[in-house]
Amino acid sequence: MGTCFRLIMYRSSCNSVSLQAMFYSASEKRYGSMQYRRCGKNGLKLPAISLGLWHNFGALDDFEKCRKIIHTAFDNGITHFDLANNYGPPAGAAEETFGKIFQEDIKRYRDEIILSTKAGYGMWSGPYGDGGSKKYLIASLDQSLKRMGLDYVDIFYHHRPDPETPLEETMAVLDLIVRQGKALYVGISNYSALETQKAIKVLNSLGTPLLIHQVKYSMLVRGAEDGLLDVVQKNGIGCIAFSSLAQGILTNKYLSGIPGDSRAASERGNGALEKSGLTEPVLSKVRELNEIAKQRGQSMAQMALAWILKDERMTSLIIGASKPEQVTDSIQSLKNCRFSDEELESIERILK
Ligand code: NDP
Repeated sequence: MGTCFRLIMYRSSCNSVSLQAMFYSASEKRYGSMQYRRCGKNGLKLPAISLGLWHNFGALDDFEKCRKIIHTAFDNGITHFDLANNYGPPAGAAEETFGKIFQEDIKRYRDEIILSTKAGYGMWSGPYGDGGSKKYLIASLDQSLKRMGLDYVDIFYHHRPDPETPLEETMAVLDLIVRQGKALYVGISNYSALETQKAIKVLNSLGTPLLIHQVKYSMLVRGAEDGLLDVVQKNGIGCIAFSSLAQGILTNKYLSGIPGDSRAASERGNGALEKSGLTEPVLSKVRELNEIAKQRGQSMAQMALAWILKDERMTSLIIGASKPEQVTDSIQSLKNCRFSDEELESIERILK
């Protein structure tokens, strides 16, 4: 594992204040076990497991724990960190937290790292802080770059379709951002299969091909299978899943109650899992799935992630983590992403 030292001030025995120069050094073994998958037919590869900062990296979260989670991820080959303008809380705080850790610890590894951010949900008051207009997206990306202290992000996403803005305008902004050098690649998120097909066409006509689609996909949320995965494959686009653990439901943590330090107990708001989401019909499915996971020699979380990654159309999936150990546990899923026909049939029977 990498070493983390901080610049600390301490009082020596003769009572003078001393400075101890210290720094984070990434593990030399960081590329030993991670898989890297190509984004469709594009040149860029992403780690099969990426880390997202939607929750657990806000202003009220323990900063040193955030730092440890980022270090653990990078030390284990997670080269991709996923953000958005509105991650926090409050909105913007996750980019600030990441920016501080990036500047202090990992800046010198910039060329080994893929950073993404997004805009598309409500970010500031008035008519220009939401949607897909040129006015909003350009200003938002400039703010994100400032919060993180970056010259450019690797991937900039339009976070969700905006029915009030012509698709041509939104896609032209993505093209402009790449031409300005503020992003290397562009992506879209939460677009339907049909909307994705249209976005691909417009972006191709502008000369900035779509790199990747970011979609909610888990054993419990299967909408991506209704055409979207076929569209990305047909067009050579990458696909990256989010909430593949259904925010923690697809782990064994809720099988005998709600732990006090869990997301469901935290009442964070902003779309975070709530106690009401833990219904008995869902939990009884997870109990049954957990038995299959045990037979496979995996934890429930590992099996849920492996189940997504068994599909070669998936470039990566973005995990969330509240503890460094969750990152290392989730990465173990890569040891077995193959499922027998019998296992797949049993899983489908449980999920029906
Ligand atoms: P997950 O489904 O991975 O849920 C993360 C939570 O699951 C963690 O906070 C933790 O819960 C629990 N967990 C994670 N690993 C383990 C483990 N190994 N064992 C037990 N529990 C575990 O993802 P998120 O919903 O957090 O989303 C991930 C990322 O996806 C976001 O950070 C963001 O980058 C992206 N995203 C994109 C969206 C979009 O619209 N494009 C929307 C939502 C997310 P606990 O906190 O209880 O410990």
